[in-house]
Parts: sequence; C-alpha cells; structure tokens
Amino acid sequence: MIKTKEEASEAIRFLNAEKIVSIPRTGGSGVCLGLETPSQSVVLDLSELNEILEINEENLTITAQAGVPLQVLEDTLNKKGYTSGHFPQSLPLAQMGGLVATRSIGQFSTLYGGIEDLLVGIEGILPDGTISKIKNNPRKSTGPDLRQLWLGSEGAFGIITEVTVKIFRKAPERVMKAFAIKEFKDGLAVIKDIMQAGWKPAVTRLHDKTEAAESYGPFVEEGESIMLFISEGPEGFAALEADAVEKIALKYGARPLGSKPLEVWLVHRNDICDHLDMYAVQGAVADTCEISAMWSDIGNIYDEVIERVKAEVPHLVAVTGHSSHSYQQGTNIYFMFGAMCAPDIAAA
Ligand SMILES: Cc1cc2nc3c(=O)[nH]c(=O)nc-3n(C[C@H](O)[C@H](O)[C@H](O)COP(=O)(O)OP(=O)(O)OC[C@H]3O[C@@H](n4cnc5c(N)ncnc54)[C@H](O)[C@@H]3O)c2cc1C
Repeated sequence: MIKTKEEASEAIRFLNAEKIVSIPRTGGSGVCLGLETPSQSVVLDLSELNEILEINEENLTITAQAGVPLQVLEDTLNKKGYTSGHFPQSLPLAQMGGLVATRSIGQFSTLYGGIEDLLVGIEGILPDGTISKIKNNPRKSTGPDLRQLWLGSEGAFGIITEVTVKIFRKAPERVMKAFAIKEFKDGLAVIKDIMQAGWKPAVTRLHDKTEAAESYGPFVEEGESIMLFISEGPEGFAALEADAVEKIALKYGARPLGSKPLEVWLVHRNDICDHLDMYAVQGAVADTCEISAMWSDIGNIYDEVIERVKAEVPHLVAVTGHSSHSYQQGTNIYFMFGAMCAPDIAAA
C-alpha cells in the first residue's frame, strides 16, 4: 500500500533496479488484463493516495491524487455546483489513476469526451524513480503531447500519482427524449445525421431489439430498437438541440416515447454487474466486447457479429449490442454475450 508519491518513487526505483515486475493498481475494476500478476511480481496499491488537492474555479479544473475514487470526486464537485462530466459504468469502483491508465470513457461522452479530452495535466513516476510532471495547459503546440504516453498506458510506463482534469458547471437545463425505431441500422443513421449536423447530445444511445425488449419492454413493440438522448447545456440550448434531434429521428420513422425510458436508464445505468450475475446464476458465462468503427462499416460489423455469434457459439443464451459513444466519423458498438457452459465443464 503506497501512501505518498515519495514512497511510490522509492518502490518503483528499487523494483526496477532488481528487475522485479511491478503493477500499479487503483480501483481494481480494469478489464483488459493489465492487473494480471506474473509470478514474483509486486502490486503497488495506490488507493490510499486519495486526496483531492485543488478545485480551481477560475480555470475549471480539479487536481486529485491517483487513488481518489471517481464517485468521491463527482460527489465533491456536485456539492459545489460542478460535474466531472465523466460517467463510466464503473463510476462506483474506478479511481483517477486507473481512469487515465485505461483511456476510460463515460456515458455522457458525446458532449464531454473521454478521459483523453478531459486530462489537463499529470504527474507520474518513471521506472528510475524520477517524478515527472506535465503542467496544466489547455493545449500544447510544440512537440508530441506527452500526456498521451500516460493515457491508456495500463501501468507499462510508470505510476500515475496525480491528475488534473476539466470540470464543468452543472448544466441548468436538461431535456430527455427516447424513440423506438424498427431497424437498428436506421438508428445508426439517425445518430450519424445528428452528429454530422453538429449536435452533441450528452447521452446518445441506441440499443438493439434484444436489449430494448430486455430493459425497455413496456415501451417498445416486438422487434423495435430504442434510442435514448439527453441534451444538456446553457439555458435554451438543451431544448433547441432536443428539437433538432427529434426532427432527425422522425425523418427516419422513429416513434417518440417521451422521457420515461430515460428515467429508467438513469436509475439502472450502472447495473451491469447484476446483469452479468444473472447469467452466472443460470450457470452461464458472460462477457462484453467493444469496438468503434467508421460510419461506413459499423452497421455491417454489427450484423456480422450478431450473425456469426449466433451461428458459431454453442449453447448461446443471448448476444446483444448497443451504441453509446458517437462521433462525426463513426460510433462504437458494445456487444454483450452469454452462453451456457458445456455440460462437461458445468459438471466439473
Ligand atoms: C462493471 C464495470 C463497468 C465498466 N464500465 C466502464 C465504462 O463505462 N467505461 C470504461 O472506460 N471502462 C469501464 N470499465 C473498465 C474499468 O472500470 C475502467 O477501465 C477503469 O478506468 C479502471 O480504473 P481502476 O481505478 O479500477 O483501475 P485498475 O483496475 O486498478 O487498473 C487498471 C489498469 O490501469 C493500471 N493503473 C491503475 N492505476 C494506475 C496508476 N496510478 N498508474 C499507472 N497505471 C495504473 C493498472 O496497472 C491496470 O493496467 C468497467 C469495468 C467494470 C468492472
């Protein structure tokens, strides 16, 4: 357990000199195997490096040590009328160092961006124990942006000890609108048109028919996908954006559902563990897999993944997909799949 950056520096310098693998860890919620521990490795737990060092209301930034849980950061900001704008599903688990080390992205990303858009300055410790600081700046115009080395580094280049990220005044207005749509591909076209027209609804989601039936059953008819939008911003902006979103959705034959599905989503949006537990209780294995791709490819990727998983995975319970992070050039699909264990494995 590391309690100061000096301790972190001393530890990594020693471990590196002795050629011992060290693995920094904060919330422990990472899903990309960065926390796998080869034999004779040492885990450096930074979760007690957990002080919020400064909220700068002039520059709209917050500086926090690597072990500050995102939930604590967000609650602290909310009390002062601000938000981090960063809401990964692992909000209750993840901590600031891990968020940067994994290039985290949250549910309001279309407006606020991913952690790479939020990071302003960073302090980290290199393997020889040097404490390296990249000072706060809105932009750099010379040389490579070294913040990028820490973003997504999964602990490979050293230990992140402190980060400064943007904060935002809480939006005074929020408008929520949901729509049912017959074809998933039409839903993708709606989102493409919204993004390319220059709108950025903070929450922009499209759930396929299986997820729509499972989580929004009372709102949709059989075979329909569901789209969820939250617009927020300064006075007057949210309503304007929501109207524009509605016009585009109606052009594709979407059916307005009002704000109720969004109210459901806001309450249950971080329930993924319950969802995965449900599979486990049935004796199934479940996992998720996320990709992003250009608009020209994403629809076909969705179709092919669903088709091939159905054709090739034995004992499949379900395969579903949704889009939740969109850009002018493309979007993501987050696939979830569950399958029963083969009988011989289940019995073992
Ligand atoms: C239920 C669930 C939902 C999730 N939802 C999302 C989501 O919506 N969006 C998303 O992006 N991710 C999501 N994730 C993945 C995960 O939560 C994020 O990747 C998160 O950013 C990890 O933060 P952590 O503090 O838990 O890091 P950890 O799990 O402790 O570490 C993750 C990686 O970062 C490295 N690391 C940790 N701390 C440091 C440090 N101080 N310096 C250098 N390297 C470090 C570790 O070595 C490891 O490789 C989810 C995970 C779960 C379990």
